[in-house]
Amino acid sequence: MIESITNNFSFKMESVKILNVIIDNISMVDALISIEHFIKESYKSHIVTINPEFIMQAQTNENFRNVLNNARLRLPDGIGIVLASKIIGKPIKERVTGVDTVYELARISALNGWRIFLLGAAPGVAEKAASELMKKYPTLQIAGTYAGSPHPDEEKEICDKINQTYSDILLVAYGSPNQDLWIARNLDKLNIKIAMGVGGTFDFIAGVAKRAPQWIRKIGLEWFYRLMREPYRWRRMLALPKFALKIIFSRLVNKKRELQFG
Ligand code: UDP
Repeated sequence: MIESITNNFSFKMESVKILNVIIDNISMVDALISIEHFIKESYKSHIVTINPEFIMQAQTNENFRNVLNNARLRLPDGIGIVLASKIIGKPIKERVTGVDTVYELARISALNGWRIFLLGAAPGVAEKAASELMKKYPTLQIAGTYAGSPHPDEEKEICDKINQTYSDILLVAYGSPNQDLWIARNLDKLNIKIAMGVGGTFDFIAGVAKRAPQWIRKIGLEWFYRLMREPYRWRRMLALPKFALKIIFSRLVNKKRELQFG
């Protein structure tokens, strides 16, 4: 990708609304330019990586929907988001996954001296992910790692721990919707510049979970690969066909309206 990022922050960010959730129509390169801009300003920014499961959770969880819609950057994760955007006639440029974004963030952080804190995942996983990232980017500064839990009782202790490390970037792996609700509740208390919910990313980087091969990702079947490897996810993954039906239904309703009102 890009080696150094411009200081200009001049491109116009467009967004698409899918089932009342706003998603930024942004490429990886533009996402990294935005992130560099966020880090240089004093305003703290929350970044979310939205997939169809998030959108389905947001249908019934209004607080979560507001958290997603109020995030500074809402990245289009999941092939389902890209397909849905095409169906509703507002195509998103490309898929920007959480895992790819974390690798890119680590790469540009190593170049710029930004410090990263890894919060969440099972004990030992964030440490392993950190050492894998440092192997790949030797100048990367990992400010700290901690598994902890998303339970509100632990928040103060976790925030204090993070604040002692002078981190610039906080990555939170507590699954959805907990990770982004956790960030929204605690961002004000944290002395960081950006915080991002990253789902199972530490498991992939640490090698605890295996990511689908490139060719499977290319044909849009990463979700199927994950279901085959982690069949206990089947109930959660029912969100995907429900999401597809909702998108098709909303498209048909809009088409009917267009035909009626011209
Ligand atoms: N996780 C955690 N504490 C929790 C729930 C989840 O640390 O209470 C971690 C889990 O170990 C994994 C990550 O959150 O590393 C993402 O979880 P999951 O795969 O369920 O979420 P998804 O990526 O599907 O949103």
